[in-house]
Amino acid sequence: MCGNCGREVTGNGYTNHCPACLWSKHVDKNPGDRAEECGGMMKPVGVTKEGSEYILTHLCTVCGFERRKKVEKEDSFDEVIKLSRFL
Ligand SMILES: [Zn+2]
Ligand SMILES: [Zn+2]
Repeated sequence: MCGNCGREVTGNGYTNHCPACLWSKHVDKNPGDRAEECGGMMKPVGVTKEGSEYILTHLCTVCGFERRKKVEKEDSFDEVIKLSRFL
């Protein structure tokens, strides 16, 4: 379940980020390894467009760690647009 908006995130667990609000969780050192102990909520702070793809930037609200992640097709495009105004 998403720690920000409470939406049930289906699929193989808490994969990367919530498709509804785009928040993520700081649980990986490398994508998918679940080796990070921080566990902080990661706020989407921006989006950039690279070719035909949108790349989200997440900032951990606990430790300040920053990570970039590709926007998935099931993600809310409305939220992506909101973030893109900061471009
Ligand atoms: Zn959410
Ligand atoms: Zn963190």
